Amino acid sequence: MSTALDTQLKNAEAALARFAAEPLGHWIGGRAVAGVGEAFGNRSPVDGRSLGLVVDATAAEVALACEAARDAFAGWRATPGTERRRVLHAIADAIEARAEEIALVECMDTGQAWRFMSKAALRGAENFRFFADRAPDAANGVSLPTDSHLNYTMRQPVGPVAVITPWNTPFMLSTWKIAPALAAGCTVVHKPAEWSPLSARLLAEIMHEAGLPAGVANLVNGFGETTGRTLTEHPALRATAFIGESSTGSLIMSQGAPTLKRVHLELGGKNPVIVFDDADLERALDAVVFMIYSLNGERCTASSRLLVQRSIHDGFVERLAERVRRLKVGHPLDPATEVGPLVHERHLEKVLSYAAIARGEGASVAVGGARATGAGLPPAGCFVQPTLYVGATPSMRIAQEEIFGPVLTVIPFDDEADALRIANGVRYGLAGYLWTGDVGRANRVAQALDVGMVWVNSENVRHLPTPFGGMKSSGIGRDGGDWSFDFYMETKNVALALGMHAIPKLGR
Ligand code: NAD
Repeated sequence: MSTALDTQLKNAEAALARFAAEPLGHWIGGRAVAGVGEAFGNRSPVDGRSLGLVVDATAAEVALACEAARDAFAGWRATPGTERRRVLHAIADAIEARAEEIALVECMDTGQAWRFMSKAALRGAENFRFFADRAPDAANGVSLPTDSHLNYTMRQPVGPVAVITPWNTPFMLSTWKIAPALAAGCTVVHKPAEWSPLSARLLAEIMHEAGLPAGVANLVNGFGETTGRTLTEHPALRATAFIGESSTGSLIMSQGAPTLKRVHLELGGKNPVIVFDDADLERALDAVVFMIYSLNGERCTASSRLLVQRSIHDGFVERLAERVRRLKVGHPLDPATEVGPLVHERHLEKVLSYAAIARGEGASVAVGGARATGAGLPPAGCFVQPTLYVGATPSMRIAQEEIFGPVLTVIPFDDEADALRIANGVRYGLAGYLWTGDVGRANRVAQALDVGMVWVNSENVRHLPTPFGGMKSSGIGRDGGDWSFDFYMETKNVALALGMHAIPKLGR
């Protein structure tokens, strides 16, 4: 065992001890609430160890959290934007100060590798800073005058909102939703995923200690069908910001319908990376490997379908297979590890089930396709071999369904039209990546892809002011820059008569 890993393990033990000591409850109205609901076990996917108990919130506790957010709304919305900016920067400072602890907890709770999680905690701080700086101007509108009236718009926070997040990079994704909500003047009730609840508690405490007033950000733990559902149905909340599976997104919409909740849905993907024969193939290969095998492939923007031009297919795939075979599967706290264990035994089974499906449909498993064992991997861990399916056709399930693991499906194409037909021939439309040396083709294909985001000759490089989100079954709405405020704020128009314009006279 390496010394680096030894040290990491010792630090992780220290960070996790508190969660083993008592069941993890909720954070409501500025304080910890133990919770009286049923507790469920939280096991680490790394080695199967218990990380403690988590309490499923009762309907009454969810209601308390929603009421706390409702009661805190008037005060937080009236807080000057400059003060909201100050508090959000203080939160970012506190996240940076505890970034290592957050990353250690996240690695053990989710199985994500340290090399990515150490940066994800800092990305969380960046999210707070980015939206902090926009808080003072968030309410600004435009002036739309006529000869008779001055029309001006302004924005106001929509109200208390639910934020429901998944397990793949929980801390970063929570900040991505909560920071703009708070900057806008909304109050929040957050429910993290039941498979990765720990870092949300750290965030709740950090926000409190950094000076966020009581009730502005609340946290309830529990299952989607219970806690999550109650949250989306509660009349005190005006909107639900959701990140998760497409099928859950549908439920979120229907559960929120009776209370007419605004919804923002960031859902699944089956993102194509298209490699044309005139591309810089070295760089394309690096990006293809990175965009599906980083973060265990548990990433909504992962490029899980490689569409490669037939003329270069065999050579490209041969080199790709070599790289996939060499990926380092290991303990997530080992800084050398590239692929860690999947989040949960149930998810591991789902990902592995696709090997038989692939074979049954006539594709071949070029690399992987089975559980990863041996060589220092804890036997109870949810480790999977990085997997490469080749010889796939566009209609196969491995080419259509979101597997959400380190699993890549290769599909050959003949020409630009063929590539576009295959790329767009899925129900998802989150992201697309394309590699070509022809600038005209780059723009043609980028414009024709039915996706919310396209990267040309690049892996996913995020710039926070740009819009993030998907089309079709990948979601509704956009995050990032001002788009986040479109969701968390209402636009109001005020029309003011400038003089004595003619008013229609009735009943005279
Ligand atoms: P999931 O839909 O199973 O769960 C997400 C959250 O919703 C969890 O907190 C869960 O408890 C809750 N939930 C489940 N049922 C609910 C219900 N009926 N009412 C209210 N809440 C409910 O998703 P997951 O498996 O945790 O996450 C993986 C999925 O998230 C993948 O599909 C991935 O593509 C997607 N994702 C999308 C983005 C994006 O930005 N588009 C980012 C990350 C992950």
